[in-house]
Amino acid sequence: MISKIEDALNEQLNYELFSAYQYMAMAAHFDEKGLEGFSSWMKAQAKEELEHVSKFYNFIFARGGMVKLGKIDAPKGSWTQPIDVFKAGLERERGVTERINNIVDMAHKEKDHATHNFLQWFIQEQVEEEDQFHNIIQKLKLVGDNPAGLVMLNEQLGARPSESAAE
Ligand code: MG
Repeated sequence: MISKIEDALNEQLNYELFSAYQYMAMAAHFDEKGLEGFSSWMKAQAKEELEHVSKFYNFIFARGGMVKLGKIDAPKGSWTQPIDVFKAGLERERGVTERINNIVDMAHKEKDHATHNFLQWFIQEQVEEEDQFHNIIQKLKLVGDNPAGLVMLNEQLGARPSESAAE
């Protein structure tokens, strides 16, 4: 594996790790607000990000590379409304998608078929990630300022299983 690809994969590993960190901060924000279901959903999301980290970790070593962990900044910790949290999550996932696409382009250009193939799973995964955040934003728009609706959605989101179906 050429160093340019190894660096890009490491950068992505660190980015996914920060996603987990950010989603844990979102979970804590919801727990503080008494929205345990929202918090539980975010914890499941953070766990999924750690699985993404593991995939990059294993692949980098499988290709004879070295995993390099960088400095992690403090994540944002508070938002005005629940919808703002999910909008921030969607923005983040769109950023992840863009980064994955850029590495796919790089792998294609460098004729690194193994990396190109490895990243196909992430391309599909990102469609689901963006869709999930988008759906919850839509629901929060419907809920508006209705506390009863928020409580109902809180229960619904709390039902998200913590195990990833992707494995
Ligand atoms: Mg991810």
